[in-house]
Amino acid sequence: MKAFAYVSPATAQDALAALKAGGIVRPLAGGQDLLARMKDYVETADTLVNVKQALDSTVTPAAGGLRIGAAVTLDALSRNAQVLRLYPALAEAAGKVGSPQIRHQGTVGGNLNQRPRCWYFRQEEFVCFKKGGNRCFSVDGENQYNAIFGNDGPSKIVHASSLAVPCVAYGARFVIAGPNGEREVPAAEYFTLPTMQNVKKENILGDDELLTHVVLPAPGRIRSGHYEVRFKESRDWPMAFATVVVTTRGGVVDSARVVLGAVAPTPWRSEAAERALVGKPLNAASAEAAAEAAVVGAKPLSQNAYKIQITKTAVTRAILDAAGLKA
Ligand SMILES: Cc1cc2nc3c(=O)[nH]c(=O)nc-3n(C[C@H](O)[C@H](O)[C@H](O)COP(=O)(O)OP(=O)(O)OC[C@H]3O[C@@H](n4cnc5c(N)ncnc54)[C@H](O)[C@@H]3O)c2cc1C
Ligand code: SF4
Repeated sequence: MKAFAYVSPATAQDALAALKAGGIVRPLAGGQDLLARMKDYVETADTLVNVKQALDSTVTPAAGGLRIGAAVTLDALSRNAQVLRLYPALAEAAGKVGSPQIRHQGTVGGNLNQRPRCWYFRQEEFVCFKKGGNRCFSVDGENQYNAIFGNDGPSKIVHASSLAVPCVAYGARFVIAGPNGEREVPAAEYFTLPTMQNVKKENILGDDELLTHVVLPAPGRIRSGHYEVRFKESRDWPMAFATVVVTTRGGVVDSARVVLGAVAPTPWRSEAAERALVGKPLNAASAEAAAEAAVVGAKPLSQNAYKIQITKTAVTRAILDAAGLKA
């Protein structure tokens, strides 16, 4: 690994100041992603700014919802009583990440900002669009784990964060601190589809900014469900997953949010699946109809058409989970 400077500021303000050290400066949280990339020479940094002391590591009530600090670990998130009660899909997603060791070390901020897992991105030798090159190797190469939606742009990654999907489904807002103060954006607007102009990034965060909090709105009368399809019981990332958030009135769905994971470069909201659910009772028939609707328009690459079927399974089972009929 290339030598680097290391600073460990005590406050968010000092961390933001440290990001301006000059050269390549990166925030370091649990290091589960960043240090692995540095060891593999996929990323080189001149300075690492440890943000674990500088950022909030608590979950606190906020206007009927919750405010989750970026330095909260995935393990703490998955076990937090309020998260389990109000936003069970988020707790489940956090509790399924990797292994106990990874969940103890990894943080909310690091999980949401982790870089893609595309095999070519992770190999030093392949200088693809995401690393400043002029081609995407997955187009004619190994693309079984790549996107089936939103893959018209230069990069065909799937977003790697398991937390991003329930955050979008629950209507979370992300709080960002930067040199000019604080800004807040809906989670759905944080993540970006690749274009030639922004292909090296997966979100709107500037190099001089930090994600400081996730704010979850008061849940009201929502019911939610989550389902991940993984390779056997592997610790690897899910191959497709879904979070579903619904409200019902008079026995039928009156609002729905269906968000898919591991199928697109961003958490992928399926408005077609949501339309298929609204006005219907929550049961196996409506779940299957919504799952069929969710995959209309999928454009698989040469090796990942199997993802259409497992995406349908994930949507069906997430809806049954929301209905209290977990498969
Ligand atoms: C075997 C294995 C299996 C895994 N399975 C899953 C899985 O199923 N689902 C899943 O979601 N993840 C999975 N992961 C990834 C793991 O969850 C992430 O690597 C981890 O959450 C990253 O958190 P961290 O705190 O260690 O981040 P770090 O590695 O410290 O940082 C990750 C990135 O985020 C940036 N960053 C960190 N904090 C902030 C902040 N506050 N503001 C702005 N930028 C920030 C860093 O600069 C870096 O680029 C797996 C990892 C492994 C090794
Ligand atoms: S999918 Fe993206 S990360 Fe993977 S090779 Fe193509 S450009 Fe690179």
